[in-house]
Amino acid sequence: MLTEFHIGLDDTDSKQGGCTTYTATLIFEKLLQENIIPADFPWLVRLNPNIPWKTRGNGALAIHLETPEEHIKRIKQIVTSTILRTSNPSIPGTDPAAIFLEGPIPDEVRQFCTSALHEVLTLKQADHLLQALNAEVYTLKGRRGIIGALAALGYGAERDHTYEIIGYRTKKMLGKPRRVDLDSVRKMDQQKELRTFNNVDPETGRVLTCPHGPDPVLIGIRGEDPADLVAAFLMVELEEPVERVMIFNTNQGTDAHFDRTSTIQDISVHQSVRLKGRVSSPPKTLKGGHVFFQLEDHTGVVDCAAYQPTGPFRNTVLRLMTGDKVDAYGGVRQGPEERLTVNLEKLEVLSLEEDVHYLRPRCASCGSSCESMGRDQGFRCRKCGQRFPRETLTRSVLPRRLRETFYLPPPRAHRHLTKPERRHHARMKGHAKVEHDQKPHVILGMLSRGPPQ
Ligand SMILES: [Zn+2]
Repeated sequence: MLTEFHIGLDDTDSKQGGCTTYTATLIFEKLLQENIIPADFPWLVRLNPNIPWKTRGNGALAIHLETPEEHIKRIKQIVTSTILRTSNPSIPGTDPAAIFLEGPIPDEVRQFCTSALHEVLTLKQADHLLQALNAEVYTLKGRRGIIGALAALGYGAERDHTYEIIGYRTKKMLGKPRRVDLDSVRKMDQQKELRTFNNVDPETGRVLTCPHGPDPVLIGIRGEDPADLVAAFLMVELEEPVERVMIFNTNQGTDAHFDRTSTIQDISVHQSVRLKGRVSSPPKTLKGGHVFFQLEDHTGVVDCAAYQPTGPFRNTVLRLMTGDKVDAYGGVRQGPEERLTVNLEKLEVLSLEEDVHYLRPRCASCGSSCESMGRDQGFRCRKCGQRFPRETLTRSVLPRRLRETFYLPPPRAHRHLTKPERRHHARMKGHAKVEHDQKPHVILGMLSRGPPQ
């Protein structure tokens, strides 16, 4: 008789180093060592990326098991001792938390996750749900980590998902520049059949797989299939030792923070929103190179902005015209005078207005330009004074330099959750829904430097 047992984790990291994925990796390995085999890889669930006080990325972790009842006590011990060993709660803002939940994941937890992807949730909301669930909570210091830990339990394989393979650095190398042969990453990126994404920023050639902070991640490669990611990982030439490797199920690259549509009157600060509306003022470039326009729907008007770091995406936004219908995706920020602005992460052009221009006639006698004689009147040659009727005005429609499709900033400006260009192609999207049929420890065993078996 097997029992479903779920572990949610958050906030064992901090801005000064550490990484919740690393804690989850150690727990996962320890479980394998003790022959407790999780049903699938651990989950790295990214939550609303527009909450300014969360560490960049706002990721929480979950491990799902089906296990004999008598293992549960030992599993909890492994989790709590690993958190103690890997987190540094003396650093302000680090509030490690774990949640233990037995039985199938209730719908309320899935809804809580969806809310945590779009909104700002309170500790009170998390507590309320935890009490109703009769879940067990483990915290070291503050309790703020329970929001993410609970939300992480609510994202599963029934929703669009991808994978990430992460190689971790040895303690000795922490804080030093990462030694990875960047050309080998670029070469790996060219292997389209591996179905990876966001390895390289195409415009700048910048390699995006290696972070720069003090955290223990040497390299992370994202893609559609765990076995492909192992192959991609082995193609990259790493010039420093790798302590361990783990593969994660993730909601990265899925647009999961944009899967519901809001109206302008309902949005509030720090939300991730998708708004369907009509461009109501022509875009303009402001100081600092930021591009702004106004969007309206039947409930109100809001400013939308493509900020300078979004690079050429701003040129796309500048081509919008009043009357164009768009889906605007982004994070809500508060500007001066409590004015809300949607910081655009993506734009879908739904329909384009005609770019109509009217040209006054040239004089039929001398070829000079004509001037209007007033509203609803005809035209008069500026040079010889000859008059022409109103109907000589010609209407011309200029081609629009936009299409009815998705537009994204370059990968270097993406959030972890942003669905990249490669995944917008239908074929790739389909792949993400195919379940791989191998157990995690089998795939990890394909690595020469896999975890200890
Ligand atoms: Zn004339």
